Amino acid sequence: MSTLKAVRGTRDLLPPETGLWNFVEETARRVFARYNFWEIRTPIFEETQLFTRGVGEETDIVSKEMYTWEDRARAQSEKSQSLTLRPENTAGVVRAYIEHKLGETGLLQKLYYIGPQFRRERPQKGRYRQFYQIGAEVIGPPSAGSESPLRDAEVLEMLATLLDELGIHGWKLVLNSVGSSSDRPRYVAALREALQDKALQMCVDCQRRAETNPLRVLDCKVPEDQPIIESLPKIADYLDEDSRAHFAAVCAALDACGVKYEVNPRLVRGLDYYTRTTFEFTHGGLGAQNALLGGGRYDGLSEVIGGPKAPGIGFAMGEDRLVLTLQAQAAQHGKLADAYVAPVGEAQNAAALDLARELRRAGLQVELGDGSFRVKKSFEIGNKLARKIVLLGEDEVKSGILTVKDFAKGEQVKVARAELVTVLRQG
Ligand code: AMP
Repeated sequence: MSTLKAVRGTRDLLPPETGLWNFVEETARRVFARYNFWEIRTPIFEETQLFTRGVGEETDIVSKEMYTWEDRARAQSEKSQSLTLRPENTAGVVRAYIEHKLGETGLLQKLYYIGPQFRRERPQKGRYRQFYQIGAEVIGPPSAGSESPLRDAEVLEMLATLLDELGIHGWKLVLNSVGSSSDRPRYVAALREALQDKALQMCVDCQRRAETNPLRVLDCKVPEDQPIIESLPKIADYLDEDSRAHFAAVCAALDACGVKYEVNPRLVRGLDYYTRTTFEFTHGGLGAQNALLGGGRYDGLSEVIGGPKAPGIGFAMGEDRLVLTLQAQAAQHGKLADAYVAPVGEAQNAAALDLARELRRAGLQVELGDGSFRVKKSFEIGNKLARKIVLLGEDEVKSGILTVKDFAKGEQVKVARAELVTVLRQG
């Protein structure tokens, strides 16, 4: 008899790795709680039409990747029905929101979930058929402020905080607006037209997408297709006044709180329900599957699945990929601390202790040097123990402007004390 193994694309999570999974989940729960998000648990399978209607018939997920079966009736009173293992959880959360009339509270619902999702994708590093998502949704009637760009910015700021608290270094936030439900048809028509003669030079998937769902062409990763994709019309040119103002307000709020981002007009994401803001956080260490998480606004989703108007914004983080990133970082850096605080002379010892205390209280791992060391020696020790060194001389103590060197990048910068925690948490 052949030995039985976990099914292709699924895997067992064993100790000690499960410790890392617990750390990720506990950190997420703690950060979500600070932003007043509450947990929701929805079933792992749903009626198939929740996804065909909610996610979209023409998406890769629905057209190719779902685990769907016909569930036989067990009794006269039951009907057989088509069921699907959830490939994502936003549709399920919005279904629960509608079913339990959560909108009638008149308040925003801030819900998070942690759990497995299922997609029949080609397994590879960072891509599995059973994978785990940590996600959250902010949804409610427009009167509760659910359409406000402040919600978008708050969610993005929370994600930046969460990644920092997980100790994930070097993430990048990529942002776009895909416009409202009235902007999109105009853009899709323009894309369709532009693709008419170009699609034939593209991969077979793009040839199909050009017919069925031209927006998906922008998702194509085939290198030969990229110059053609670059030459296609840009969504930014098709946004109406409202969508433009909404996106500008999201960006302004992020600027105001110092969350860094990059606008990529090609970011459309693989699910049909997105409107206006869409985003991804990526990480260079992940290789081809470089998206740590993705999300966006879905102002029309509730209505598409038969509910009241309930605009919302949410995201799903790939927990598998968060864990992979943390493992890769640990392998790369060994047990490096975030910072080595180095007093330049003994007169700065007390100030250095005070600074180390502040950084440690902010959750950073800090090693404290000694003012009796020469600066050269401090650099040598810092380089062995920490990713960055913070120098504290007489000038630094007086001005509150510190000198920080990143050992891996070889860069030295001046940083105001108020910015130091943020800078030390970055890559
Ligand atoms: P999506 O639901 O497609 O927007 O994906 C959100 C996030 O879930 C992605 O950014 C990935 O981090 C993760 N993810 C999606 N599909 C998979 C998969 N097959 N295996 C592992 N992680 C995935």
